[in-house]
Amino acid sequence: MPGPRFPSSSAPTVEPAAPVRFCDTTLRDGEQAPGVAFTAAEKLAIAAALDAIGVHQIEAGIPAMGPAERDVLREILATQPQAGVVAWCRADRRDIDAAVSCGIVTAHLTIPVSDLHLKSKLGRDRGWARRRIRDCVFDAADRGLRFSVGLEDASRADDNFVIELAGELREWGATRIRWADTVGLLDPVSAYTRLGRLVQAVPGEWEIHAHDDFGLATANTLAAVQAGFTWVSTTVLGLGERAGNAPLEEVAMALRHLLKVPVDLDTTSFRRLARMVARAACRPLPVGKAVVGESVFAHESGIHVHGVLRHPSTYEPFDPAEVGGQRRLAFGKHSGRASVRYALAQYGITADDSEIEPLLERVRTTATQTKRGLHGRDFQELLGRAEVPAPRVEAPPS
Ligand SMILES: [Zn+2]
Repeated sequence: MPGPRFPSSSAPTVEPAAPVRFCDTTLRDGEQAPGVAFTAAEKLAIAAALDAIGVHQIEAGIPAMGPAERDVLREILATQPQAGVVAWCRADRRDIDAAVSCGIVTAHLTIPVSDLHLKSKLGRDRGWARRRIRDCVFDAADRGLRFSVGLEDASRADDNFVIELAGELREWGATRIRWADTVGLLDPVSAYTRLGRLVQAVPGEWEIHAHDDFGLATANTLAAVQAGFTWVSTTVLGLGERAGNAPLEEVAMALRHLLKVPVDLDTTSFRRLARMVARAACRPLPVGKAVVGESVFAHESGIHVHGVLRHPSTYEPFDPAEVGGQRRLAFGKHSGRASVRYALAQYGITADDSEIEPLLERVRTTATQTKRGLHGRDFQELLGRAEVPAPRVEAPPS
């Protein structure tokens, strides 16, 4: 079944033949989230987990930050992950020196390209940006580094300047160019049109780096892939500056299920990875977080439970096991007869409607009074009150 397409008469529609490649930046952009500070042990554990699920590159840190960051980069490199380990560098010789000093072989060199950033942040102009990044890529190449180039704030830059500069970067040896929506200002339709034009003008590997300030990072990342981008930049749970980045787990599952694009990651570890990163970041993992939240495969309302029990795809977009999750039938205010009947069956009880109705009423009343879903023990108690036979199965329905 073909994936959804954005309407555009001018932009190309590209069907990626190979799996989309993931450069995960949880350890760099993710850690830049306010108040987030990973320990060395946490960084190593997250790098190992990212490697185990098969991301293609791990953007592991910023060597110019100091000796402690460089030590962690060395330690990650020493584990010899299958994934490439990338160090983030400004277009600055000192950053490249710092990367080389800790044994990095792949650097990501970043240059702002919007007039706003160039003028307001650096007091510079486009000519300076062009000269600066040219000198840096030559320097990196002279030292034997592999490198990609990041165009910071590209979404607010003049597209003609970006095309011109990207063409030169290809000539200077940049096989991959990252196009950054630094402040999350893209929308999917214009992203598809603008990025499609870019890919047509400057073929080769492009990477999308989307921020989530308007909640559109995943949508914009998908639009970029539809426009011909072959790399995506993500973080676990979308952890990152301000509202964060495109979440790894959302992008991967949406690419696979909505765009039918091959994704060669071990997605069954997504929930475990999300919990690990949430813990290390000291941030709660919202129960309703897409793909990995505790409740995203929980069903309470009567109609939904009835449907899921008959056929899971009625109210589930994919099998929970695909992301290491589990279907859960919750009992609460919105429960219906099918839930109660299912629960009774778990206890080896068959009941007719006259027995189920009063029990259902008690489930609803208790849920409203306690303002929470009911768990197995609650239900067992309710069953006792309803004077039904003792349950044969101790475990709550799940
Ligand atoms: Zn970023």
